[in-house]
Amino acid sequence: MNNTTVIIGAGISGLVMAQKLVAAGATVVVLEKSRGVGGRMATKRVGGAVFDQGAQFFTVRDAAFTELVEGWRERGLVKNWPDSQHRRMVGAPSMTAVPKALAEGLEILREHKVTAARRHECGCWELDVEGQGIVRAERVLFACPVPQALAMLKVGEVVLPEGTAEELKALQYHPCLALLVTLAGPSAVPVDGLAFAEGPVRWIADNVKKGVVQSAPAAVTIHAAAEFAEANYGLPEAEVAAKLLTAVEGMLGATVTATTLHRWKFSEPKTTHVERCVWLPELTLGFAGDAFGGPKVEGAVLSGLALAERVGRELQRLSCAEEDGEV
Ligand SMILES: Cc1cc2nc3c(=O)[nH]c(=O)nc-3n(C[C@H](O)[C@H](O)[C@H](O)COP(=O)(O)OP(=O)(O)OC[C@H]3O[C@@H](n4cnc5c(N)ncnc54)[C@H](O)[C@@H]3O)c2cc1C
Repeated sequence: MNNTTVIIGAGISGLVMAQKLVAAGATVVVLEKSRGVGGRMATKRVGGAVFDQGAQFFTVRDAAFTELVEGWRERGLVKNWPDSQHRRMVGAPSMTAVPKALAEGLEILREHKVTAARRHECGCWELDVEGQGIVRAERVLFACPVPQALAMLKVGEVVLPEGTAEELKALQYHPCLALLVTLAGPSAVPVDGLAFAEGPVRWIADNVKKGVVQSAPAAVTIHAAAEFAEANYGLPEAEVAAKLLTAVEGMLGATVTATTLHRWKFSEPKTTHVERCVWLPELTLGFAGDAFGGPKVEGAVLSGLALAERVGRELQRLSCAEEDGEV
């Protein structure tokens, strides 16, 4: 039988999960709909300017995560936010540095968007991949926002256990609008950015001062507040840009030369599942991501590690049973 574990999503949760399972001897294939890896830990180049457009930094609390981050620091993949008053870690040079390094050595099929996940009577999975045909797997681990996972299962007519289905459906996300602003000269944004408790803007940061790029043009990331993003998500780009630029008027310190808008449909989970991951051995199906571990990079990593642990134990059990001639 095909004993492949397919992970859907090459964000940080899917990548740490894949690395851990591969280290435990599993055959793993990651399917990622985008060209790049990292999901919401995204860096974008616009002209000569470079922006962290999703996660801006991450914090470290859990002991297991602290150990992992120390390893990343030793490899030069992360550093402290330069000159910041706060205890914040950033990717070096940008937030995609860690996902890119984790992706090395893994079998990742990029530009592979899964549109349906279907389960056969024999217990194996068939995944429809847009424009690419079918990928088969023994087990499927979703490492993408939960509504996207549920949509794939719905098309594949998979019925989840009732309690689990209700819990997963309850996991909803705030959207975010990220405006990437290029300036004619150095910005007036403080070195460690500005966070706002109210108004249309939640966050503003200068990517040059943060060290994403060493030289001009100045590149400022503006994140809208959740309520503003909900209310204005579908507006034309120029209208969203005008509203957000008005809200930060006088704070940028230089003339705006270009703007690009990125719409994050699933930015931050509104609530977190009680478990760090969901593993359904009877369906050989699992779910991980920040909606389980907590709505941040750290939570996503801890969730990915938790699911890898659960699946790894299952693989170990199967392998022992096989040696004993039970399967
Ligand atoms: C605007 C913004 C600001 C943030 N700021 C911070 C911050 O400052 N600090 C912090 O700690 N966290 C922050 N976060 C949250 C942090 O980025 C996330 O918690 C974390 O990156 C989630 O990782 P993940 O692996 O769970 O999911 P994702 O990163 O969302 O990864 C999921 C992956 O699945 C892929 N995928 C989805 N559907 C399919 C499909 N059908 N087929 C194949 N692949 C698919 C996606 O392309 C993506 O690569 C922010 C997020 C956003 C959007």
